[in-house]
Amino acid sequence: MLNLMSSEQSVKRAAELLRQGATMLSESCPLCNSPLYKLKNGEIVCPVHGRVIIARDEEEEKKLKRGISLDYTEQILVDSMSVVVEKLKNDPMNSEVIVQLIRYLDSLERLKRIRDLAQTQEK
Ligand SMILES: [Zn+2]
Repeated sequence: MLNLMSSEQSVKRAAELLRQGATMLSESCPLCNSPLYKLKNGEIVCPVHGRVIIARDEEEEKKLKRGISLDYTEQILVDSMSVVVEKLKNDPMNSEVIVQLIRYLDSLERLKRIRDLAQTQEK
């Protein structure tokens, strides 16, 4: 279901990119394997994940992949969390919803820790 939705979205996004004058590249996104597009300003984007930087070597590719997947995870978490927050607004005493919200906050905190750790390792 989720895959179906995102592939539909990516087709729509890709059509939009082409309309804006982007060209399709032979490279594909390291995360989702969608074909990448080059914008008029030279930026390379994935229709699903947004801006992508093509790695020069394997080490850089690993680093970039990690960054993209963390960004993507964060985006999904924040989006999902806002759904939970809406639920909480309508039903403030629903402890199940509160627990769910705590889980999201916890996930975001962990995500931040992983990102900080990755940054210190790069120094
Ligand atoms: Zn992608």
